[in-house]
Amino acid sequence: MNDKVKVAVVGAGASGMMAAITASRYGADVTLFEKEDRVGKKILSTGNGKCNLGNLDFSMEQYYCRDKDKLESIFKMFSVWDTIAFFESIGLMIKSKNGYLYPYCEQASAVLDVLRMELTRRQIRTQTGKGIKSAGYRDGEKLFELTDSDGRVHTFQKLIIACGSPASLKKGEGMSGYRLAESFGHKIGRLVPGLVQLRSDETFLKALGGVRCQAKVKLLIDGEERASETGELQFTDYGVSGIPVFQLSRMAAYAADEKRDVEIVVDFFPDQEENAYAYMAKLRFETGQDKTAEEYMIGLLNKKINMVLLKRLGLKPGMKVREIGWKGIWELMKSCRNFSIHISSPNPMENAQICAGGVRLEEVTTELESVSRKGLYFAGELLDVDGKCGGYNLQWAFTSGYAAGISAADGLAEDVKGCQRC
Ligand SMILES: Cc1cc2nc3c(=O)[nH]c(=O)nc-3n(C[C@H](O)[C@H](O)[C@H](O)COP(=O)(O)OP(=O)(O)OC[C@H]3O[C@@H](n4cnc5c(N)ncnc54)[C@H](O)[C@@H]3O)c2cc1C
Repeated sequence: MNDKVKVAVVGAGASGMMAAITASRYGADVTLFEKEDRVGKKILSTGNGKCNLGNLDFSMEQYYCRDKDKLESIFKMFSVWDTIAFFESIGLMIKSKNGYLYPYCEQASAVLDVLRMELTRRQIRTQTGKGIKSAGYRDGEKLFELTDSDGRVHTFQKLIIACGSPASLKKGEGMSGYRLAESFGHKIGRLVPGLVQLRSDETFLKALGGVRCQAKVKLLIDGEERASETGELQFTDYGVSGIPVFQLSRMAAYAADEKRDVEIVVDFFPDQEENAYAYMAKLRFETGQDKTAEEYMIGLLNKKINMVLLKRLGLKPGMKVREIGWKGIWELMKSCRNFSIHISSPNPMENAQICAGGVRLEEVTTELESVSRKGLYFAGELLDVDGKCGGYNLQWAFTSGYAAGISAADGLAEDVKGCQRC
């Protein structure tokens, strides 16, 4: 008789595959269900096809979560170094680019390949094209009961739900993990798109579409500065994009959802010290008296931005600098550091890299076991934890997958963290 603990993992994304491999390493008999025809599809589009799978610059600052102490304890079970060791143990060479971790070959497909090969090597039953439609618990037998898309019923002693989120999927897709969690009485924290572009109704954006520049971007909610990020800002004809915008987007999305006033304020000269900036502006003013306003701005910012700045202040491009005067020129220069854009909404979930919100961390233990239903675990983006751009979300998928996998297999009792059992 097979006395291995029978574990089901629902969802074969980054977290589900990690959970399945870990549970199997710790002696469980694992079945992995995936509704798509192949496992780990999302991994292929990560990091622009290169898969940024972690980051050496690691701290709780990189994460949003309602219980950072618990989150920190979970990361202690499986850190960024454990991610490197894990992937190297299954044949993936890793490299760091300024701390950002990638497969050495810079192909996301390699990450998926080594995970798939490990699933096969460990003889983990992987059932693709089998979405789990509903789940329940048979109290008498102490078994979880899963019904798949063909109407077949499966039973297991432990269940790990790792169904991901609706981020980047077609409208209406990606909600089944939350429904399964709710069927066990769990509450779902409000879902909003994260790591996403922000939309604006400002008409001048039409003229700026396609422009990229270095900038500091501040996020103001109801007029109060809440956060700022520096990096490459990208203008689109409907709003703003780029890493600094992505990093601010989840906070902006929650505020927009609450119908609060959301604004970003751009400083196009983030590296310029105030006095040096004023000196440069004055010098240009004194030596450029015969220039037009348009000529005064040449070489400072992208021409399209210059034109929008002039228009916003009601200055004609052909007006002479002497005519405008120092006061007017200084107003213009100050507006380069204080360029406000009103935000109407984030782009929809279909465009987002992640989804903020999900199964609340207070409803699971540090081992990611449900506090209300023993033997039920959660992993990955389905939980109400999300990270900044830079490998932090895949790190969470691997960490939470490991924690759920080892706990479901009762591996924690062995106290052999990072064990590379084969
Ligand atoms: C374009 C893009 C780029 C990204 N780049 C990065 C990056 O470079 N670095 C980074 O850290 N993060 C990145 N992310 C985020 C990262 O990919 C996710 O946070 C991570 O993949 C989440 O893993 P997961 O296992 O929780 O969910 P998923 O990867 O979404 O996996 C969930 C799986 O469950 C399956 N499933 C759902 N419901 C059921 C069901 N009922 N039955 C059976 N199967 C089901 C789904 O089909 C899916 O395969 C990116 C995301 C996107 C969209």
